[in-house]
Amino acid sequence: MFGRGSSDMGIDLGTCNTIIYISGKGIVINEPSVVAVEKGTNKVLAVGSEAKKMLGKTPGSIHAIRPMRGGVIANLEITEKMIRFFISKVMPRYSFIKPRMVIGIPSSITEVERRAVEECAYKAGAREVIIIEESLASAIGANIPINEPAGHMIVDIGGGTTEISVISLGDMVVTNAIRTAGDDFDEAIIKYVRSELNLIIGGGVSERLKIDIGNASPDKNIEKVEIKGTDASSGLPRRLEIDSEQIREALKEPIYKIIDEIKSILGKTPPELAADIVERGIVMTGGGSLLKGLPKLISKETGVPVILAENPLDCVAQGSGMYFEFSSRGSNNRNYDRLN
Ligand code: ADP
Ligand code: MG
Repeated sequence: MFGRGSSDMGIDLGTCNTIIYISGKGIVINEPSVVAVEKGTNKVLAVGSEAKKMLGKTPGSIHAIRPMRGGVIANLEITEKMIRFFISKVMPRYSFIKPRMVIGIPSSITEVERRAVEECAYKAGAREVIIIEESLASAIGANIPINEPAGHMIVDIGGGTTEISVISLGDMVVTNAIRTAGDDFDEAIIKYVRSELNLIIGGGVSERLKIDIGNASPDKNIEKVEIKGTDASSGLPRRLEIDSEQIREALKEPIYKIIDEIKSILGKTPPELAADIVERGIVMTGGGSLLKGLPKLISKETGVPVILAENPLDCVAQGSGMYFEFSSRGSNNRNYDRLN
């Protein structure tokens, strides 16, 4: 897998998906951050896509977990196993050149957890490990010239967390992470369908509704789709039609939580940097930013142009993989959030 000199690995340890990027090769791993374990013994049965298939459908003895859910490491031991599994999948068993690894993590995880993640990467065979905040990684991945003395705002909406940061001179000037993101959009749809339509649906159905017909902005073109679920009163299976306007209504609360946070960060941004942001626009990354009409709504509500990154789902992994190149080019890599 590693040719001479091309051994930098960028890892996005996301709450939904783990993505690994290798310089010169591109994305080599893109799998759900899910681990299936045996109840009682905690023996790992499957990791990634295999494990995701078991989520919500597991028999009593199997437990499918998302160890990073909510942007905190719920179970460190399982997280370590997951990281080592993914790395070993792309690492040759015997290799002369050990890779350098840069891992992008949610800013909400603790110092102890950061060290554990770092240690895992060393155990898995890295020769050098750097842990960076995913906001910085996604900014690099979105091709933002972060080392310039100008303000840039990056909003990354993942599964469990939304990270909002203002970056200038390679460092985060103002930043905050909130626990409202893509998973909460799914939850909000489940709640709406239950309370307004008296139907119980699962997480898989609500995510499909969000992706297929969800639209954060009002649209003349109203899309409709048929869903199946369980009637909340009779307990019997029932089908009904739902449209994009209803999904928009359902998503209002979590979407406005994110918008309010963006406004609050803009309010805390020093005026010179805010002026740069107004001129250059807010850059959006992460899977949640793919919700139709969301960039448009955020732009309308803040009065600032919004740009969707080219590959919103891959920015953190790509930016991590490009980190070494970037930091040797930049003049002030001391400003990067390094552990050692
Ligand atoms: P993380 O970094 O937390 O692993 P990702 O950036 O991979 O998260 O984004 C995952 C989230 O993006 C999930 O909630 C998923 O449902 C959502 N998502 C992915 N594609 C789309 C889409 N086309 N429209 C709306 N949401 C999407
Ligand atoms: Mg992410």
